[in-house]
Amino acid sequence: MKRRMICLLLALAALTGLLVPAYAAGEPAGSPEAAAEAPDSSPDPAPPEEPAGPSGWQKEDGKWYWYENGEKLTAQWITDGSSTYYVDSAGVMRTGWFTVDGVYYYASKSGTLQTGWLKSGRSWYYLDPETGAMAEDGIYAIGGKEYLFAASGAMRTGWISLGGGDYRYADKSGALIRDAWIKSGKSWYYLQADGLMARDGTFSVDGKEYLFTASGAMRTGWISLGGGDYRYADKSGALIRDAWIKSGGKSYYLKSDGLMARSEAVDRYWVNGSGAWVGTWNSECGMYDHTTVYVSNAGKIHRTSDCSGMKHWSSMTLARALSRGYKLCQKCF
Ligand SMILES: [Zn+2]
Repeated sequence: MKRRMICLLLALAALTGLLVPAYAAGEPAGSPEAAAEAPDSSPDPAPPEEPAGPSGWQKEDGKWYWYENGEKLTAQWITDGSSTYYVDSAGVMRTGWFTVDGVYYYASKSGTLQTGWLKSGRSWYYLDPETGAMAEDGIYAIGGKEYLFAASGAMRTGWISLGGGDYRYADKSGALIRDAWIKSGKSWYYLQADGLMARDGTFSVDGKEYLFTASGAMRTGWISLGGGDYRYADKSGALIRDAWIKSGGKSYYLKSDGLMARSEAVDRYWVNGSGAWVGTWNSECGMYDHTTVYVSNAGKIHRTSDCSGMKHWSSMTLARALSRGYKLCQKCF
């Protein structure tokens, strides 16, 4: 039975040998014999190359390698279909973070090179959409917005120190802020048109003036400039000029230069050394109504206590004396 089978196989082999072209019958591809036997006029049947070894991905000891005709490729990019891969100097397909010529790249678990935004660990990274190169150590314009990446490639959010007291600010999405207000902690801060935080001075925003401390916090309320000088910013932080304000139940005036008026007249009004309004000019009497006057027993209002040799008098403000119906001394007024 076994012998009959072998005979059948031999017969079959002989028959096949008659039907197939000679070059396919075991001749080494490209050998002089094979070339000589190929008719010149026939369409070149491109003798299939003897497979020299595997091509494509091969898994060895849990690692993937890329072969081309049995040759393991090393330290190069591999394009397979629409995906790009990298094999290192040992030929191992890389996954996760890896560097090529000092540039960082990231490949998925399956080895495909990643591009665009990538969250890795707690941080966001940006991989060039063309090359996959990681953005690092600088500001990059992406989709019409600006983002700042640390030397490690991690996208920054919140306050970013540029050194020398200069700061920029990126919102939660990482977009750097320009020309806006932001609230951080309990304070408001202003990012100027160039993106730098305003600090240590007054800055104009939309026609209004705001004052920021050295740390960049916007001031509100009274702001001491030293030497008894004050400015005042309302709740929005806008510095007040040329206007009366109420503060602690008293009235104060901010002059055209923004400084609080003190110990001086503002139109018909007098403000004291603390800046509080204390009196109004009484044109009939020729004095401010908060001025101290002297009232004699006879109910006359005197400018001085020694008018007509008064022996008994009481002092009060002009406004109070007038409100009591006392009359002006003809000698004094
Ligand atoms: Zn008098």
